[in-house]
Amino acid sequence: MTAPIVLVIQQYADFSYVAAIALFILSLKWLSSPATARRGVLSGEIGAALALVTTFFDPRLVQFRWIAVGLLVGLIIGIPLGLVKMTAVPQRTAMSHAFGALAAAVIGISEYYVHAPHITKFGMTEIAMEVIIGCLSFTGSLIAAGKLQEVLPQRPITYRGQNYVSLAIFSAAVILALILIINPGAPYLFPAMVGVSLFFGILLVTPIGGADMPTVISLLNSYVGLSAALLGFVLNSKVLVVAGALDGSSGFILSVIMCKAMNRSFTNVLFGAFGQVTAAAEQVKEERTVRSATAEEAAAILAAATSVVVVPGYGMAVAQAQHKVREMFDLLTTLGVDVKFAIHPVAGRMPGHMNVLLAEADVPYDKLVEMEDANSDLPQADVALVIGANDVTNPAAKTNQGSPIYGMPIIEADKAHTVMVIKRSMNPGFAGIDNPLYYLDKTLMLFGDAKAFVSDIVRDLSEAAKGAKKSATGGR
Ligand code: NDP
Repeated sequence: MTAPIVLVIQQYADFSYVAAIALFILSLKWLSSPATARRGVLSGEIGAALALVTTFFDPRLVQFRWIAVGLLVGLIIGIPLGLVKMTAVPQRTAMSHAFGALAAAVIGISEYYVHAPHITKFGMTEIAMEVIIGCLSFTGSLIAAGKLQEVLPQRPITYRGQNYVSLAIFSAAVILALILIINPGAPYLFPAMVGVSLFFGILLVTPIGGADMPTVISLLNSYVGLSAALLGFVLNSKVLVVAGALDGSSGFILSVIMCKAMNRSFTNVLFGAFGQVTAAAEQVKEERTVRSATAEEAAAILAAATSVVVVPGYGMAVAQAQHKVREMFDLLTTLGVDVKFAIHPVAGRMPGHMNVLLAEADVPYDKLVEMEDANSDLPQADVALVIGANDVTNPAAKTNQGSPIYGMPIIEADKAHTVMVIKRSMNPGFAGIDNPLYYLDKTLMLFGDAKAFVSDIVRDLSEAAKGAKKSATGGR
C-alpha cells in the first residue's frame, strides 16, 4: 500500500475508534437505568463491533489466517455461553472474564517474546504489570466460575497463615517483575513470573466462600479491565486504554455497591471467609409453627387490598415466574389495587437480577421501587407478597447481632399489615439461616413453586376480575 493510502486508512481508523469510545461511554450511561438499559447494551455491542472491524483495517495486520481461526474458536465457545439460563449468568460472567484476562495475558506474553531483550524499562513495566494482572485474573475467574457452578467446593478453603503465603507468592511475582525490568532478557524469569501469577490467582479466590463470589467476580472484572488498559499502553491502542479503564472502574464501583448492599467491607470479602458462617448457621433450627394458606385464599386477600408490595427474589428467577407475576400485576391493577415491586440490590444471584427479569416480562419500570422507597411504603401497605425471596427480607439482619447477615439492609416486608410468602418449603435461603418473618402472626406461607402458585392466584383473580366487570356493567 502507498503511504498516502495508509495515512487515510489510519485517519479513518482513529475516527472509528473515537466513535467506539463514545459508544462505550454512552452504553455505561444508558445501562444505569432499566428504562434505557436495552439501548445501553445495543450501543456497547455496536461500539465493540466497530472497534473489532476497524482493527481489521490496521495496516500492521498482514495475515488474517489466525484471526479467522480465533473468530471461529470464539464463536464455538461464545454462542453456547450466551445461551445459558439466567440463573447461571454469574458463572458465565466469570468465564467471560477468564477469557478476557487470558487474551490480555497472552498478548502481553507475545509482546514480550517479540521485543525481548530490546524492551525499554518503561515498556517492560507495562508488560509485567499487564501480564501479572491478566494471569491472576484468569485463574481467579476460573476458580470463581467453578465455585458458582459447584464443580468446586463453595466453602472457603483456608489454613493457618494463608494470607501470609498468598502475600509471599504475590511478592515473588513482583520481585521477578522487578528483575525483568532491570534486565528484560533474563532467561526463564518471564515464564516463572507467569507461572507464579497464575498460581496466585488460585490462592486469591479459593479462600473466599461461594456467598461472596458475585462480588469477587465484579472485582476480577475490574482487574481484567485494568489489565486491558495496560495492554492498550503496550500496544499503543487508545481504544483499549479507554475501554479497559471504563471496564475497570465500573467493575470496581459495582463491587463497592454490592459490598454496601450486603453490609460487607472489601477486606471482609477478600479475607473474611464468609461461607463458613453458612454451615454454622444451619445448625440452629427450632421447631416453630407457621400459618399457611391456599392460592384461593391468597387471591381473595390480594383482591381485597388497596396496596400490595411484591418482593421478588431468587426463587422467582428459579421458577421463571416473572411472566405470571406480570399477569397477576395486570389483574390486580384492573381490580384497582396499587401494586409496586420492591427491589433489593442483591436479590437473586447477581446485581440487577430482578430488574432484568421484570423488564423481560414488561412490568412497567415506574412500578419498580428501590429498597429505601419500598421501606417507606411498606408500613402503609396492606400486603407484602414475597415471591421466592428470603435473606433480603430477613428481620434478623436488623435485630440479631449474632446473625451472619446482621447489618445487611433488608426490605422490611414485616412492616406490612399482612405478609404472604411464596416458597416451596421452610428451607433457608442463600445465607443458610432461618427467617423469623415466617413465624409472625401476620404471615401466611404459600407453599409451592412460585410459577405454579402465582398461576393459581392468577386463575382465581381472573374470576374475581370477571365478576367485578359484570357488576360494573350491571351483569350485561
Ligand atoms: P435467597 O437465596 O435468600 O432465597 C431464595 C428462596 O427462594 C429460597 O428460600 C427458596 O426456598 C426459594 N425458592 C427457590 N426455588 C423456588 C421456586 N421454584 N419457587 C418458589 N420459591 C423458590 O434469595 P434472595 O433473593 O432473598 O437473596 C439473595 C441472596 O443471595 C442474599 O443472601 C444475597 O446476599 C446473596 N447474594 C446475591 C448477590 C447478588 O448480586 N444478587 C451476590 C452475592 C450474594 P425453597 O427452597 O423453600 O423454595
